[in-house]
Amino acid sequence: AARGPPPHVALLSSPGMGHVAPLAELARRLHDAHGFTATVLTYASSDSAAQRAFLTSLPPAVGAASLPAVPLGDLPAGAAIETLLSVEAQRSVPALTAVLSGLKSTTNLVAFVADLFGADTLRAARDAGVPGYLFFPSNLLMLSLMLHLPRLDAEDAAEFRDLPGPVRLPGCVPVPGADILQPLQDRASDAYRWMVHHGERYRDAAGILVNTFDAIEPGAAVVLRQPEPWRPPVYPIGPVTRQATDGAAADATGCIDWLDAQPERSVLFVSFGSGGALSTAQTRELARGLELSGHRFLWVVRSPTDGGANPGESYYDGSRSKDDPRRFLPPGFAERTKALGHVVPSWAPQTRVLAHRATKAMLTHCGWNSVLESLAAGVPMIAWPLYAEQRENAAMLCEETKVALRPEVGGADGRLILAGDIAEVVKEMMDGEKGEAARAKVAELKAAAASGLEPGGASYETLAKVVSEWKAASGSS
Ligand code: UDP
Repeated sequence: AARGPPPHVALLSSPGMGHVAPLAELARRLHDAHGFTATVLTYASSDSAAQRAFLTSLPPAVGAASLPAVPLGDLPAGAAIETLLSVEAQRSVPALTAVLSGLKSTTNLVAFVADLFGADTLRAARDAGVPGYLFFPSNLLMLSLMLHLPRLDAEDAAEFRDLPGPVRLPGCVPVPGADILQPLQDRASDAYRWMVHHGERYRDAAGILVNTFDAIEPGAAVVLRQPEPWRPPVYPIGPVTRQATDGAAADATGCIDWLDAQPERSVLFVSFGSGGALSTAQTRELARGLELSGHRFLWVVRSPTDGGANPGESYYDGSRSKDDPRRFLPPGFAERTKALGHVVPSWAPQTRVLAHRATKAMLTHCGWNSVLESLAAGVPMIAWPLYAEQRENAAMLCEETKVALRPEVGGADGRLILAGDIAEVVKEMMDGEKGEAARAKVAELKAAAASGLEPGGASYETLAKVVSEWKAASGSS
């Protein structure tokens, strides 16, 4: 039979490299494994040099385009990041509908995929006559929370942290109310209402692809893989992560050269993602804790923010510290730790660092991409959650998956993690029995992640099933 044009998929990413990267990697996978061509759509507001460089590194069959800017100036100053992302998505629907209609006439467009803040854009897919799916770049615990949120909201008027017991979602590890997604901690806030809205709109999706794999959260996977009439089918297809070879040529940060000179499995990598920053006091405690531990470390230091700053800011500005963050470290720190430590300002080639033979563990803010990259590299974690859904992730990784350790939170205000407690957890991770147990468990998960992505593996076959549905619906199988 004559072969038609290859199937095409359009994917729209919320602002922020933590959203763009996994969605673009999904496009790459659809191309490499299933013969798709793809268009990765982004918002004008999220344009940055890092993002452009990343998008141009994709195969030629995966194109990129930016939606025209929509005005957001009428939103109150200091509006929550969730509000900005949600309003931008809604206002972009007309332009998106035009883009999808255009792609429909020029390509064999079989599906549209939006991500976690994009449920309102599924309307554009409907109007253009294309099946609309969601890609959820977090885990099943978090997706389950989003899907149950409209019900939880209607049932109980208390704040999550005031509930008598932990939040229990079917198949999921119980989560203390205070660890629930940060924008849900204030029911009176716009951010909270937006999240409830998205939870409702998720039901409009023809299916929800999730960047996780069964072995991380087996209980939730069993429950969510079952079809239910009240929600779309859920497809765990991960891990979808950036490749370690990303930008392999140059390493301007010197991280890899420094790691090359360190002994096998001896280094703790310390990073808080693209947007995470600590307070000045906390930055100093961390510095002292690393020094006290006596272990080797590679630390990506950010300039501190002392309250007020919106951690999601980096979604819009590409996250570059304006000052050299090293000047916030304790006096003499660099000199005293130069034999054991390496500090880089702002940014490190993370996937390459994690894949390096000298790296033994990672201290992470538990952003989901970082977690998946760490698991894929077989690197156990110290969980130091900061915002968004990171506390939920930390609870899951420590209590259920058991691939992470958590420092005590002490200090006068009950919020600071003190140097002594940091040193303790670092020593335990690098040298102790609990660290060893987490390392053994993470080795299992690394193997499960890799085999799941092979033909016959759970994640591979799940994506293949979605692909065949797309092709069948469009008559291009
Ligand atoms: N990242 C990196 N170098 C850094 C910090 C972050 O390459 O110094 C990458 C990291 O590998 C991951 C992403 O940025 O792919 C961060 O995503 P994550 O979901 O972990 O956290 P977020 O930045 O969204 O809070």
